[in-house]
Amino acid sequence: MDEGCIVFNETEGIDTDKHYIAWINANKNGYVLSIPKNYRTISKLFLSKTTRIHRVNCYLISKYSKFQQSSSFTGKKYFKICSTNQSDLTQKAIHITGLFMIEKCRCMN
Ligand SMILES: [Zn+2]
Repeated sequence: MDEGCIVFNETEGIDTDKHYIAWINANKNGYVLSIPKNYRTISKLFLSKTTRIHRVNCYLISKYSKFQQSSSFTGKKYFKICSTNQSDLTQKAIHITGLFMIEKCRCMN
């Protein structure tokens, strides 16, 4: 069911943000899930507040602010999962996090 979901999670020495940005540029109707990398150890409450689903054109997950480093989308505290299917991505997020529902960013309204 989630075969269309692509994980972008930077490991040392690999510029995953470059591949992530290429994906969002190539999938203008896609969705991006942002999850904290320490999702296994943080509280469910904090996890529910920091896990978000976005549209690809949301500036929060597609534009670096001047305070961010260039690898901050996938190389710092968060990683990304991308899909063109919103319900597949939501199910994947629920499966990974154990949350009952995934918060939507304002860009989804
Ligand atoms: Zn957003």
